[in-house]
Amino acid sequence: MFFFWRKVTLPIIGDNHEMKIDKETPEFALINQYFKQLTTPRQDVVLGIGDDAALLQVPEESLLVVSVDTMVSGVHFFEDVAADALGHKALAVNLSDMAAMGAEPSWATLALTLPEVDEQWIADFCRGFAGLANRYNVSLIGGDTTRGPLSVTVQIHGVVPKHQAMRRAGARVGDDIYVTGTLGDAALGLRVLESAQALTADQQTLVNRLERPQPRVEAGLALRQLAHSAIDLSDGLLADLGHILTQSGVGASLQLEQLPLSAELISVMGDDMDWSRVVSAGDDYELCLTLPAACREEVAAVARQLSLPITRIGSIEAEPGLRCFDKPGKPWHSPQLGFDHFRAG
Ligand code: ADP
Ligand code: MG
Repeated sequence: MFFFWRKVTLPIIGDNHEMKIDKETPEFALINQYFKQLTTPRQDVVLGIGDDAALLQVPEESLLVVSVDTMVSGVHFFEDVAADALGHKALAVNLSDMAAMGAEPSWATLALTLPEVDEQWIADFCRGFAGLANRYNVSLIGGDTTRGPLSVTVQIHGVVPKHQAMRRAGARVGDDIYVTGTLGDAALGLRVLESAQALTADQQTLVNRLERPQPRVEAGLALRQLAHSAIDLSDGLLADLGHILTQSGVGASLQLEQLPLSAELISVMGDDMDWSRVVSAGDDYELCLTLPAACREEVAAVARQLSLPITRIGSIEAEPGLRCFDKPGKPWHSPQLGFDHFRAG
């Protein structure tokens, strides 16, 4: 017992009479070297990395907004994906959930399972994570580091003033339906990665949309007091807008010709252009929102201010279900829905 104790207790640090015992196992060395100072500190972090849990000061009159997403090697990303892209995306998909709620992201925890300690890989991962975290003033305040098949879980915490959060359940008959950015790029980027060898500039742009999604946090904040409902697009427009419709007890019409498409998508798809691939495409991390028609000018002003397309693509109707039109008055039926991890076949 005594020997065991001697073996794992390394230097006794501390200039007062309290003894701090630094467990310098590889795990603690990693935490100290890479994670402890990774992000810029925030005033509201009373206690960050290094204790059993973090202590955070939540502003009065605000609600705490919490969400978590896991990314598993071989399921959500290719094993050989660039580590900095993975660090970016693991945080980006969580920031996208904050955007969809209209929340201001504040703190994150990171649970990292690694097959081995590859310091270059960890340094690259941290660079990708910290770049995005610091852009949004998000502090890394804790986590867990374990050995096993590569997987990354980020839990994000944000705040929103009471009664200002956007929910899926708020859509009303007569609302306009909007999406930010462009749709379908990431899914086409995935197809490009699976097939092409040397990438053209357009193909590389699509791959970047897959690997480095830009969460629409600013748009969520700017529109939260106007929007009736919102969701972020992770599983495809039809599936995700479908959640708004069922939770709000309404239906919708979509004008496919209005869907915002990037020049890169149009050029890479060429003659293969097919609406089903756009409306069922996952991994866009754009926002879909519904707003009253009286807000059109304000939405246009936000789009200009953020230099971000915010495009009106349809409207909320009383009749349940989702109706798509590829020309005005010409119905179109989708052969497939969005991505579902547990769907059979
Ligand atoms: P415990 O044994 O109480 O679970 P750990 O030994 O796992 O704590 O972690 C020690 C400290 O380091 C904790 O504050 C924890 O939140 C933090 N930590 C561990 N892994 C990570 C990580 N990957 N990123 C950020 N903080 C981490
Ligand atoms: Mg503990």
